[in-house]
Amino acid sequence: MLQLKDIRKSYHLGDTVTHALDDVSISFRDQEFVAILGPSGSGKTTILNIIGGLDRYDSGDLIINGKSTKNFKETDWDAYRNNTIGFIFQNYNLISHLSIIDNVELGMNLSGVPAKERHEKAIQALTEVGLKEHMHKNPNQLSGGQMQRVAIARAIANDPDILLCDEPTGALDTVTSVQIMKLIKKLSKNRLVIMVTHNPELAKEYATRIVNFQDGKILHDSDPYQVNEVKDTFNLKRTKMSYWNAIKLSFTNIMTKKGRTILTAFASSIGIISIAVVLSISNGFQKQIDTTMSKALAKYPVAITATATDMTAMGNRKESDKNVKNRGYVTAKPDEAEQNTHINKITEAYVNYVKKINPNYANNISYQRAISLHLLGLKNGKAEKVQFSTTDPNSNQSVSQMRSQALSSMGIGSSVFPTTLNKNKGNFLKQNYQLLSGTWPTKATDLVIVADNKNTVNINALKNLGLNVKNNSKIKLSSLIGKEFSVVANDDYYQKLPTGMFIPKKATSSMYNNGTKLRIVAVIRPKSEDSMQLLSSGVAYSDKLTQKIINENKNSAIVKAQKKTNRNVMTGQAMTATEKKQMMQTLGGSSIPTGIMIYPNNFDAKDKVLDYLDKWNKGKSKKNQIVYTDMSSAVTKMTGGLLNGVTTILIAFAAISLITSMIMIGIFTYTSVLERTKEIGVLKALGARKRDITRVFDAETFILGVFAGVLGVGIGYLLTFPINTVIYNITDLANVAQLNPLHALYLIIISTVLTLIGGHLPARMAAKKDAAIALRSE
Ligand code: ADP
Ligand code: MG
Repeated sequence: MLQLKDIRKSYHLGDTVTHALDDVSISFRDQEFVAILGPSGSGKTTILNIIGGLDRYDSGDLIINGKSTKNFKETDWDAYRNNTIGFIFQNYNLISHLSIIDNVELGMNLSGVPAKERHEKAIQALTEVGLKEHMHKNPNQLSGGQMQRVAIARAIANDPDILLCDEPTGALDTVTSVQIMKLIKKLSKNRLVIMVTHNPELAKEYATRIVNFQDGKILHDSDPYQVNEVKDTFNLKRTKMSYWNAIKLSFTNIMTKKGRTILTAFASSIGIISIAVVLSISNGFQKQIDTTMSKALAKYPVAITATATDMTAMGNRKESDKNVKNRGYVTAKPDEAEQNTHINKITEAYVNYVKKINPNYANNISYQRAISLHLLGLKNGKAEKVQFSTTDPNSNQSVSQMRSQALSSMGIGSSVFPTTLNKNKGNFLKQNYQLLSGTWPTKATDLVIVADNKNTVNINALKNLGLNVKNNSKIKLSSLIGKEFSVVANDDYYQKLPTGMFIPKKATSSMYNNGTKLRIVAVIRPKSEDSMQLLSSGVAYSDKLTQKIINENKNSAIVKAQKKTNRNVMTGQAMTATEKKQMMQTLGGSSIPTGIMIYPNNFDAKDKVLDYLDKWNKGKSKKNQIVYTDMSSAVTKMTGGLLNGVTTILIAFAAISLITSMIMIGIFTYTSVLERTKEIGVLKALGARKRDITRVFDAETFILGVFAGVLGVGIGYLLTFPINTVIYNITDLANVAQLNPLHALYLIIISTVLTLIGGHLPARMAAKKDAAIALRSE
């Protein structure tokens, strides 16, 4: 039961006011066929729109099944339209990009009728209007009468209580008009039909009640209906459009304007293309740098030296220059490097910990030891003292001084080659060096001569071995191989004076014969011209040798004597605890190395090695922590940072075109909104909420955003091929530009989000459009 009480509606246009409805009161039966007749502009459409909830009355009341609509909210009206009302318009108002069946299903889509039921109901409605066989056609493939039948099918599909028809035959010829009238007549058997018409004959023939309108007032009512109090039996089901339906609706719409969509997507993808290209080039260069670095630097050891610089503590707190300047005093402090010098307490436990490192991460470890080997060589059958050091024999630097220098320069210059943890995982020497002559060392007593990649050997190292060499002397490899030396044990080497002090003896043949014999077995050089020289030029030997000598000497008289006193047993000078420790190490009384170098197997393994070393420090006081030095990381970080900086700047430029894209999408959506004004009206007439309309347009920009993103990434990817050709021609680097799939995904997401933002404002605008005005637009 529908009741209008004193309904007034006026339109204000500038200063002129049009009273479209002027105090209209009328009631309708639940089942009747009412025809509203009246001249143009008398307010017929207005009253239909108000009854249908498309337009709001200014005053009065519309009572539906006993319920006043005075306090209706927007969503109540939406649900009312969807549940109760079916609209039929003079110009059909079909959505041209949807098929017949989809047009009919649209209203039920909004009310969330399940797909199967929706489809069945739509077919049933189309059968009723006699268009079942045309259901997959598009509206523009039908005649006017057929289109109106589709509109009728759409209006009745959800079985509404009220059918509102605004001049349904206005655009049809007489024969077709009669057919449509018959159809509407049939539909009025079980619902209220209110039809506006220009045609009094048709009204008289089919309608059961005729209402004449003029100047917004009822002039005559052929069969008025008087009601008293009506019980409120009003009941509404809320409507809601699913995201999927919104996307479907927008997709079919987009498909009708492919050319423009592709152009817009292409224009808006340019930003994505430029970012994709920048990212793939920088990504590729980073990879190139990483592989080059890992080749060059992976072998670079992580060094644990007696003293290390604690990088983390360096220059951390910055005070403003102004504060510092105006203090009025200066502060006395040790220099920064000294402050941050950390003394590593390398212990037996730590050495064992390092030894247990996973050989898959680091298979080679070398140890620096301060022990001085008492070496003798034979020259013309006579024993003489020799050295493995590379220092000038004429300068009086002590061996331990030299060693500590070698250690402080990261251990490069060490002549002890690393110990291989797992023999099956490759041998350090064989991996990095090649044999010039001889055989690879196997025994502790095997020595090798290390040449650099120009086949030169440090002249001092050779002189110290007792070889008679001058600058540029050419030494036959065969004269080196097989050369023997002898390491003399402390007890043979030192003699104890009556004062209790120890001094070295003179070299003798018996001393030579008693010593451990060492033999040069190979001359080696780095594997290739650009491989790193991990061992310094000169003599190299294994840690097994040093350990063997330490074992021999740990119970020697001089070691025992030194253990007991805090005075140097050779010079008589008092020593600090550290000096004593060093002295013990030099004499072979301590098996703890002064430094350790760990050679990671590859670049990635380095992180695992560092993790392993960090684990040791966990929970230890700063003093007891072991600080390691990883030179290669400093280098990679620096170059990486530079590349990142350049990339950021380039991306910032590319981002500007992304903003342009966003604006373009905004314009695109805005045009689309203007174009689809009618569709918005239809959707509203069918019960769409504001939010559903927003959703439809958001869906459109979403599709466009994804499309632009995919297009941008696709074109960006294709561009990497010519770019790589160019880079290859310039730099000889192959396949530099590589688009990271993850970046591609991010770019598509960014494109989608940006276009959604760009299109959302016009979408909101669309939602706000007045349905009545939208439907009046042509
Ligand atoms: P009918 O359908 O009987 O031809 P309408 O209901 O469409 O008449 O219009 C009634 C009156 O209201 C007309 O004078 C029309 O110009 C005016 N009118 C309708 N809609 C608007 C509007 N949105 N703004 C201003 N005037 C309007
Ligand atoms: Mg009208």
